[in-house]
Amino acid sequence: MALFSGKCSRCGRVYYEDHKAVVVCGCWELCPLCGAKMEAYTPDLAANTYAKDGKHELLILRVCNNAAEHFDKSPFFSYQKPVEVELS
Ligand SMILES: [Zn+2]
Ligand SMILES: [Zn+2]
Repeated sequence: MALFSGKCSRCGRVYYEDHKAVVVCGCWELCPLCGAKMEAYTPDLAANTYAKDGKHELLILRVCNNAAEHFDKSPFFSYQKPVEVELS
């Protein structure tokens, strides 16, 4: 049986399959500060933080609201896109 493998360029997790495939690694959904699964970002939720750092809100993809778990005690906004891992 041929084994195909690929490594996520972001978190380094290695995936194996017995066929060629493209896997979307789940790491992009995890908060880098507390490890929780982040929620899909909706502009309404973060309207009050919109201009905080001057970044464009359209780039925000996920948000973690576990503010108490974060070192700066504020929600974390993620710009990370899904990471596709190509198994070859
Ligand atoms: Zn990953
Ligand atoms: Zn978090």
